[in-house]
Amino acid sequence: MARELVQTHAAVQEDKKSLFREEKPSIGKCPRCGSPVHEGKKSYYCSNRECAFVMWKNDRFFEERKTAFSPKIAAALLKSGKANVKKLYSPKTGKTYDGTVVLADTGGKYVNYRIEVRKN
Ligand SMILES: [Zn+2]
Repeated sequence: MARELVQTHAAVQEDKKSLFREEKPSIGKCPRCGSPVHEGKKSYYCSNRECAFVMWKNDRFFEERKTAFSPKIAAALLKSGKANVKKLYSPKTGKTYDGTVVLADTGGKYVNYRIEVRKN
């Protein structure tokens, strides 16, 4: 039992070393601090531990519009602060429309978004 624990511990140390060396792919730069933003299971998060920037994939904003918060959208938001998204669902009309999702980050705990719709 004791030996097994020691071995497991040693293995974890090895893992840490390789994790440290490995470069995770980033999807863009953090709008707050400029550090790389990585994709996690549930969110897109800033790699800087002291930075609280995170965009949740299940954000209500996207859920209400029945839109998947894809890495493509996240990358566009990080790059230009905007992402063109098709077939956004409108609970008001029950229809879908094309619009631009705008990153409206106020530096708070949660990142905000809003929609810009091009009017003809
Ligand atoms: Zn950051």
